[in-house]
Amino acid sequence: MHLEEMKREISNLVLDKGFYNKKEDIPKKLLFAFTELGEASDAWKKGKTEDKIAEELVDVIFYVLDASRLACPNVNMDEMFLNKLEENKKRPYQYGEGHRRT
Ligand SMILES: [Mg+2]
Repeated sequence: MHLEEMKREISNLVLDKGFYNKKEDIPKKLLFAFTELGEASDAWKKGKTEDKIAEELVDVIFYVLDASRLACPNVNMDEMFLNKLEENKKRPYQYGEGHRRT
């Protein structure tokens, strides 16, 4: 499943379940994404299973894509992902990792 397909599935779920669905809800959705990142970090620190950690990371993706469909509905996230991937491939080795000594 690609990002645009995931956005459609999330949109259907949000409408079916009556979740937050207005532009004014975007900050809440991004905050929820941060919360899920915290849950993923906590799961890692507590030695939870890979499935539990992955579940929390999928929650992050869910909220990020949910926010994206409201914040930038005209942007194709699959194309954006590929653009960013190509951009990052052009970075020099260890770009932005100046804290490393090796
Ligand atoms: Mg969670």
